[in-house]
Amino acid sequence: MKKFVYCFGNGEAEGDASQTELLGGKGANLAEMAQIGLPVPPGFTITTECCNQYLNSGGVYPDQLQEEVQAAMIMVEKIMDMKFGDPESPLLVSCRSGGRQSMPGMMETVLNVGLASSTIPGLIKKTGNERFVYDAYRRLIMMYSDVVMEKAEGIEPEDGHGVRAQLDRMLGAVKKARGYESDTDLSTEELKVLCEQFKLRVKETLGSEFPDTPEDQLWGAIGAVFKSWNGKRAKSYRRIENIPDDWGTAVTVQSMVFGNMGDTSGTGVAFTRNPATGENLFYGEWVPNAQGEDVVAGIRTPNPLNNETKNDQNDHLPSLSDAMGADVYGELDNVRDTLEKRYKDMLDIEFTIQDKKLFMLQCRVGKRTGTAALNMAMDMLEEGLIDKNTAIMRVKPLQLNELLHPIVDPEAEKTAVLITKGLPAGPGGAQGRIVFTSEDAVELTKQGRSAILVREETSPEDVEGMRAAKGILTARGGMTSHAALVARGWGKCCIVGAGALEINAKAKKLKVNGKTYVEGDIITLNGSRGLVYEDRIKMMDATKNPRLAAFMQMVDESRTMGVRANADTPEDARQAKEFGAEGIGLFRTEHMFYGANSEAPLFLLRKMILSENQKERESALEDLYPFVKSTIKNTLEEMNGMPVTIRLLDPPLHEFVPHMKDMQVELAKVLDIDLAEVRKRCDALQETNPMMGHRGVRLGITYPEITKMQLKAILESAAELINEGKNPIPEIMVPVTCDVKELNITKIIFDQIYPEVYANHGLKSINIKYGTMVETPRAALLGDKMAETAEFFSFGTNDLTQLTFGFSRDDTGGFMNDYLEKGIIGVDPFQSIDTSGVGELIKIAVERGRATRKDIKIGICGEQGGDPASVRFCYKAGLDYVSCSPFRVPIARLAAAQAAIMEAK
Ligand code: PEP
Ligand code: MG
Repeated sequence: MKKFVYCFGNGEAEGDASQTELLGGKGANLAEMAQIGLPVPPGFTITTECCNQYLNSGGVYPDQLQEEVQAAMIMVEKIMDMKFGDPESPLLVSCRSGGRQSMPGMMETVLNVGLASSTIPGLIKKTGNERFVYDAYRRLIMMYSDVVMEKAEGIEPEDGHGVRAQLDRMLGAVKKARGYESDTDLSTEELKVLCEQFKLRVKETLGSEFPDTPEDQLWGAIGAVFKSWNGKRAKSYRRIENIPDDWGTAVTVQSMVFGNMGDTSGTGVAFTRNPATGENLFYGEWVPNAQGEDVVAGIRTPNPLNNETKNDQNDHLPSLSDAMGADVYGELDNVRDTLEKRYKDMLDIEFTIQDKKLFMLQCRVGKRTGTAALNMAMDMLEEGLIDKNTAIMRVKPLQLNELLHPIVDPEAEKTAVLITKGLPAGPGGAQGRIVFTSEDAVELTKQGRSAILVREETSPEDVEGMRAAKGILTARGGMTSHAALVARGWGKCCIVGAGALEINAKAKKLKVNGKTYVEGDIITLNGSRGLVYEDRIKMMDATKNPRLAAFMQMVDESRTMGVRANADTPEDARQAKEFGAEGIGLFRTEHMFYGANSEAPLFLLRKMILSENQKERESALEDLYPFVKSTIKNTLEEMNGMPVTIRLLDPPLHEFVPHMKDMQVELAKVLDIDLAEVRKRCDALQETNPMMGHRGVRLGITYPEITKMQLKAILESAAELINEGKNPIPEIMVPVTCDVKELNITKIIFDQIYPEVYANHGLKSINIKYGTMVETPRAALLGDKMAETAEFFSFGTNDLTQLTFGFSRDDTGGFMNDYLEKGIIGVDPFQSIDTSGVGELIKIAVERGRATRKDIKIGICGEQGGDPASVRFCYKAGLDYVSCSPFRVPIARLAAAQAAIMEAK
C-alpha cells in the first residue's frame, strides 16, 4: 500500500530534500531542515500522489488517509505537548500547499486551523493573551471562508465581491472609524465583535455556517489546498512555466507558531544572498507582531532584517537585531550558514519568532535575476561551495539576455500599467515615443529622441525605421516574421503579433482595449516577455558585469558542440565574433537589400526581378554583382579563418516587389518601359502562396544566371582574399531544396566557374564546401540521397516547421495562442523545436545523411538554434553546431555546455 503521510519534527523526518516530487518543495525541505536539527515546528506532509488520487476521484479522500493523518497528528501532539481540538491545551495547525516546483502565491494556505468555540477559551487561558487569540481567529475566518468555502467550492464572485474582500472592507471600516493605522491597533473587544460579524457575513454571503469543529476545519482545509492545484491562477502559471498538470500539490500540516503574540514576536522572509544583485549579504524583511501573510501581502511596510541592507523605505524601522537582540538575529544568521552549506545554493526562507524563539517555516532554492545568478555562481565557485559544472548549471541560458541588453526593472514592472501583450520577439527592454511610420522613426531619432515604431506588420521598406527605432511593436507576424528576425539579429527589442492593437497609421493613433494612444505617447516594451506598458518605467543596464567573460570561458571549456551566428553583414559578423561565434552558419544574401545603404542594391534587385528576358536580367545582375561581392568579401575577411555559410539568394519575391509609385516610376525609366508595364510585371509576380512559390533554389533553376553571378562573387572574393594573405572559408548553401537533382544542376554551374576562378588567380584550389539547407520534409526524408552531393546540411527549421505543420510562419498570430491554451501543442514550434514531428525529421536526415557520407557536417540555422531546449535537442541528435542571431550566441554557448554536462550525467 502506498504511504500518503510523511512526518517531521524533533530532529527527525521520514522524508528529505530529494523528495520534492512526492512531498513538494515545501514538504521535502521542511523534512530536510528537521533532520539537520533546525528549529522546525513539527508536522506532516500529505503527498502529491494523494492529491492526484483525490482530484481524479472527484474529491474523495483515499480510505487509508484518515488513519495516517490521525497517527501523524498524535506524533505532532506528543512533541508539542498539546492536542488538536483539546479544550485545555489546543494545538493549532497550518495547512499549506507546496508543489514540486515553487509557484509563489499561486496556490492556497490556511493558518490557525483548530480554533473553535470549544478551544478558544482554553487557548486564552493557556496563553493569557486574549487579544492574540481573537486576532488569530479573525485571520482564520478570513482565510478559511475565502479558500475553503468560496474558492474550493468553485464560487467565482465578481471582482471586489468575494468574501475575503468583504471582510477586508469590514476590517477597514472599523479601523477608519477608530482612526487606527494598523491592524495591531485593534483592541481585544473590537476583534471579538469583528469575529462575530465576520461569521454572520460569511453565512449571508456563502449560505453556510462557519465550521465550528477543529476536525471539520482540518479536512476542509486539506481538500481546499488540494483543489487549489486547479485554481485559476495556478493553472495559468503552469501554462506559462510549462509545468505539467499532473504533478499535483502536497499539503503540509504543521503546528502553528505565532508571530502575532506581541512585540517580542514577528515573522519574516529572507534570502541568504541578495536575489537581485547576488551580493553575499543576508537580505530580508520582517514584520513585528504579525503572521506570515502580512509580510507578503504588502499591508504593512516590513522592517529590514539587518542594518547593512536597509533602504529608503525602511530606514526608519528597527532591524531584527535592534528589535529582538543580537541572539535572535545571530541564531537566524547561523541558520543561513547551515542551510547554504547543506544546499550549496542561495535559499529563500520563511521564519517566525514567537516570544523571541526562532522557528523555521520554509526554505527553498531562491529565484534570482540573471546578474545575481552569475555573481552567485562565480562567488560560490570561489568559496569552494560548488564545482565548475555546478556553477555552469546555475545560470539559466535565457538569463544571459539580461546581461546583454538593457532590461526593464522587474520591480518597476510590477506596478506599471500593462497596455497589451504580444510575442517576445527581440530581447531586452526599450522605451520611447510612439511613431507610426519608418520615416517618423528616423526623423525622431535624428532629433535625439527615442522612437518605438508601431506597425501593422513590417516590410523591407520599414527597415530604416526599424534600425533607427529603440524598439519595434507590430500587430501581426510571428516569432520568425521578418520584423522579429531582423530585430533579434540586431539585438533590438521587438514585440510582434500583438493582435489587440488596432492601428490607424494614417490618423497616427492606435486603439487597444478601449484606450487610444497617439503619436508621441511614451510606451515601454519588455521584449523578453512580450509586454507593452504605458509610459516610461525604470530600466536596468546589466551589461557591465566583468565576471561574464570568466564565466563564458568556463562554459566554452565544457562545450563540445560548435556555436555559429546568423549574420549578413561585416558589422554583424564582428558583433557575432564579440559574442563568441565560431563562424557564420547562415549568411542570408538577401539581407543586403534591407538596412543601411541598401537603396542602390535594392533598386538593382528590383530591376532584376522585373526584367522580362535573360538579357535584361543579365544586365541587372552585372550591375548588382559588385554589391554582392563586396558584402561577401568583407564578411569573409571579417571572419578570417572561420567558416562562413553563404546561402544563395532566397527571396520570397513578394517581399521585394515595389509598391510605391515613386519607385515604380524610377524603374520604368531604367527599364525603358512605361509605368503601366511596370505595374503589369509587378502584378505578374504576385503569388498566392509566396512562401511556397518561386523562391530558394527554384529561382536558380529557372534563372541560372542568378546563381552564376552569386557563385562568381563568392569564389572571386575567396580567391582575392587568399592572394591578400587571408584564410577565407566559404561554404555554399543551396536553400529550399527537395531533391538532390536540384543540387546537381546548381553544382554544374559551380563546377564550371570554380576551376576558372582559381586558375585566373594563380591558385590550385580554394577551401570551399558545397551543401544544402534541409528545410523541406522531403529533403529530410531523402537525406541519404541529398548527402550524395551535399558536403553539409543545415536545418532551416523555420521553413521545416512551416512545411511540417502546414502553419504559415507569418500568420500564426491568429491561432497559435488557442493551440497553446487548448494544450494541442506545448510550445510554439517556431520558437522551440517540435521534437516529436520536426525533431523526428531531423533525426532521420542526420541518420540517413551520415549513412551516405560519414563525415557530413550538420548544423541548424533556423531561429530555434538559439533556444536552449532546442540546443539540447540538437546536441542529443548529434549535430556539429548550432547557429543563431549574434545576441543569442552566448545563450547557445551556455545551453550547449549545459547539454553536454546533463547528458554526461
Ligand atoms: C529557415 O527556414 O529556417 C531559415 C533559416 O531560412 P529563412 O528563415 O531565411 O527562410
Ligand atoms: Mg528558409
